[in-house]
Order: sequence, then C-alpha cells, then structure tokens
Amino acid sequence: MAEIEYVRPVNLKDALNFLWNHGEDTKIIAGGTDVMIDVRSGALDKKYLLDISRMDELKGIELNDQGLCVGAGVTLSEIYSSDLLESNALALKKTAYNFAGKQIRNMATIGGNVANSSPCGDTLPALSVHRAKALVADKKSTRLVPVEEMATHAYISSLSPKQIIIKFILTPYQDGFADFQKIGRRRELAVSRISMAVFAKKDKEGRIAFLKFALGACTPVPHNMELMEKFLTGKTPTRELIWEAGGLLAQKMIEITGRRSSTIYKEPAIQGLFMRMLYPVVK
Ligand SMILES: Cc1cc2nc3c(=O)[nH]c(=O)nc-3n(C[C@H](O)[C@H](O)[C@H](O)COP(=O)(O)OP(=O)(O)OC[C@H]3O[C@@H](n4cnc5c(N)ncnc54)[C@H](O)[C@@H]3O)c2cc1C
Repeated sequence: MAEIEYVRPVNLKDALNFLWNHGEDTKIIAGGTDVMIDVRSGALDKKYLLDISRMDELKGIELNDQGLCVGAGVTLSEIYSSDLLESNALALKKTAYNFAGKQIRNMATIGGNVANSSPCGDTLPALSVHRAKALVADKKSTRLVPVEEMATHAYISSLSPKQIIIKFILTPYQDGFADFQKIGRRRELAVSRISMAVFAKKDKEGRIAFLKFALGACTPVPHNMELMEKFLTGKTPTRELIWEAGGLLAQKMIEITGRRSSTIYKEPAIQGLFMRMLYPVVK
C-alpha cells in the first residue's frame, strides 16, 4: 500500500488553498466512517488525506436570516440531541435516531453522508423535505447546490476535488407532523433499502394544507416527490387515500428505476411504509 500523507489545516482558508493545489491527489476526511474503510482495505488511491473534522467553520446549528443552517461537520449525535432541530426540522432529528449505532453517530457527519453520494445516505430524504441547499466552496468561489443535485449518480458526487461542503441551509418547518422511516435487511445497523421523510400540516377542517415528502435509497439519487404533494394537498387524509398515494409512489419508483428483481418486494414495501408513516395524520 502506498504511503498516504495526513494533513490537518487549522482553518477553512488553508484547507481550500491546499485543495486548490492538490485536490486531484487528495481525499477529504471528516468523521472517516466511510473513508477509513477504503484506507484500511488499500483501495484509497490518493497521496493526501485532508482532515477537516476540527474546523470551526463547518460546525454548529443555527437559525438565522438565511434559514436553518447545519454545518457540514455536524455529527449525527449532535443532530440527535439538537433542540433547534427538534422544533424546526424534526424529520432530520428522527433520521439520527435510526442512524447506525452510537459510536458511528459520534463520528459520522452530515457533510460526509451527503458527499459520499450513496443512494442509501439516510440524511438525504429529510434534507430534501426541507428543500436544503449545500453551500459549497473552493478557493475562488462559493455556490448553493440543491441536495438532490449533490450526486449525479449512485456514489458519484457533483463536487469537484477542490471543493468542500461548508453547510446546509434548510427551510425550517414548525408545528406539524414530521417523520423519517427506513427499511433495511435487519432492524439495527442496517443499510437502507427504502427510506422516506415527510413534513405535513393539516388545516382546521382536517385537510392536508401543506406537505413535503422525499424518497431515498431505492432510487439512484434522492427525489423530492412533488407528485405526492400535489396528490395529497387539499384532501382529507383517509386510510384509503393514503393507501392510494402509497401505490402511486411505488409506481413512480418503478418509473424511475425500471422493473428489477427487487421490485417484487419493494413495490408493496413502499406502499406499506408510506401507510405506516402517514397513518398518524389519518382523520
Ligand atoms: C457500521 C456503520 C454503520 C453505518 N450506518 C449508516 C446508517 O445507518 N445510515 C447512513 O446513512 N450511513 C451509515 N453509515 C455510513 C457513514 O457512517 C455515513 O455515510 C457518514 O455520514 C459519513 O460521514 P463521515 O463524516 O464519516 O464521512 P467520511 O468518511 O469522512 O467521508 C465520506 C465522503 O465524504 C467526503 N466528505 C466528507 N466531508 C466533506 C465535506 N464537508 N465536503 C466535501 N466532501 C466531504 C469524503 O471525502 C468522502 O468522500 C454507516 C457506516 C458504518 C461503518
């Protein structure tokens, strides 16, 4: 295995300078829960490991004029225990309850989860529900990228080797129903096969007044399903209606992925999971 040089710049400016000159030869490491697998197996073909885990510029969760800002270096444990997320992005907080085990949550960052571009990345559906944008920077410029555009294909990120995700800017939603659900091969420490997140609010008459929904894991990149929003908004959420919506969702998944061997279980599983998630809003 070739030697990999470990570099830990003290601040974001130094890190972006380093990447500007050596980005092609460098792998960024944050919590390392994905990267270290490749380091240990010898699959990482890079000269430098750039550690961004202690940079203040990537830390913190705050509500300000821009929206609800979550630093790319925020860990899943910090998300798990954030009061600000409890009241403004409950689906994201619930994601952390279902994410790996405590040791991994203590290390794993939200930035690493998104940059890794795995279709199974659990933070993606909730970020998509909150119409999150990633603030991405290189030495010379910054840009805001919708989270659904952070991966071009499964495991292929749209980031250039010179770029770092600094933070995510979410639209905060309060006082409604929010949830995250996933299905894996086992109950604990499972890679998601299907994941979904929702935020919904009802009006005084009990109709759905506002709904945001996103699907993850079973499609190559996450999707915010405006189809669901259009279908359910303005309607009274009966059991039959939610079941019908779940069926539409399963059809949409098949439209995106085509019929595969896994469709035989995923089609009913999506409909069932959607029903389970939305059941609390049934009138
Ligand atoms: C036992 C185990 C259980 C797991 N369970 C789950 C689970 O339940 N759900 C789930 O979604 N994932 C799970 N994972 C995967 C992993 O923990 C997550 O993807 C995690 O969020 C990655 O974050 P990290 O900080 O460790 O990233 P790292 O491993 O440090 O980096 C991951 C990738 O992101 C890049 N990167 C990191 N930060 C940035 C940044 N700010 N800007 C640009 N690029 C960056 C790195 O270069 C690398 O390509 C699990 C992993 C293990 C080992």
